[in-house]
Amino acid sequence: MASRFRLGLPTRVEERYDVVIVGAGPAGLTAALYAARYGLKTVVVSKDIGGQMAIAPLVDDYPAVPEVTGTKLAELFSSHARKYGVPIHLDEVVKLYRKGELWCAETISAKRFCGYALILAVGSVKRKLNVPGEDRLAGRGVSYCTTCDGPMFKDKVVAVVGGGNSALVSALYLTNIARKIYLIHRRDTFRAFPIYVESVIKHPKIELVLNSVVVELLGERKLEAVRVRNVKTGEVREIRVEGLFVEIGSDPPTRLFKQVGIETDENGYAKVNPDQSTNVEGVFVAGDAAGGPYKYRFEQIVTAAAEGAKAADAAFKYVLKFKKPS
Ligand code: NAP
Repeated sequence: MASRFRLGLPTRVEERYDVVIVGAGPAGLTAALYAARYGLKTVVVSKDIGGQMAIAPLVDDYPAVPEVTGTKLAELFSSHARKYGVPIHLDEVVKLYRKGELWCAETISAKRFCGYALILAVGSVKRKLNVPGEDRLAGRGVSYCTTCDGPMFKDKVVAVVGGGNSALVSALYLTNIARKIYLIHRRDTFRAFPIYVESVIKHPKIELVLNSVVVELLGERKLEAVRVRNVKTGEVREIRVEGLFVEIGSDPPTRLFKQVGIETDENGYAKVNPDQSTNVEGVFVAGDAAGGPYKYRFEQIVTAAAEGAKAADAAFKYVLKFKKPS
């Protein structure tokens, strides 16, 4: 019989570890650091390094690091894990499944990573506005990453949508680049931290467009304007902008949870116990993807890192069941 190799089909390469960590944000990389220091053979598989931390324009609330870019902090997290010999495999996990006593993560490039414990630190998925013109103009003025795309808007007029920390930090970051920033928010109060709200309100380059939702994005080949509707008065207006930064929060990574059979809470986040274990034996969830009745939702780099450390500790205790004392 012809082998897969001779037929030119991709051969799945399997690598064996004690712990497989999916995701390289602060939760995944801290889990990696702790697991490696516990002596567990650990791998991180992730489509990027740093997750949402890496795209934060500015991080000014991570203890002991008063002010740093998200990219730099992500680099520090990853080099710390690598110092303990953890390989970080850049690839997208498309399938998770049980194989005997192991959990396996299969990637888009046909690699397979199997281990006794699986730590899912997969974060969340950035929300889209779902308005006409958004798909057509994505990458043509419409951005979901202010740090990545902000520098292209030097001296231009731009808008940011959202009223949370991400939106306000993005607007403040853009004040160093753009000529003017409209901050469009659907209510007249912000859920962002007061320190950001105060700075935004008094910044001369930022104009607030409150009680307003974006209903359409205008422009054929590139963004030219956003159409917004005032939810109180019903008035519709067009604001001419060349860039729009969508910062309206995130949704849970439902697909991977379904593959593993992880129970989720009413918002779709994984129900985790205080040690980050789930209803599925050997599977732990840490960071933004974790939810449930014991979770205190407060999405911070420091809390994600803490959950990563707890997940590694719980995974270590779980993996010991399979390892003979030396
Ligand atoms: P978030 O806190 O969920 O805020 C999302 C914002 O977008 C809210 O103001 C929400 O409005 C608005 N929104 C949601 N869906 C919308 C829609 N379809 N159309 C228009 N507006 C919509 O998300 P985030 O700002 O991305 O932050 C995510 C997490 O990371 C939060 O826990 C946040 O604290 C954390 N974070 C922390 C820092 C920091 O500590 N420095 C920085 C960035 C992010 P409503 O307010 O009306 O619901």
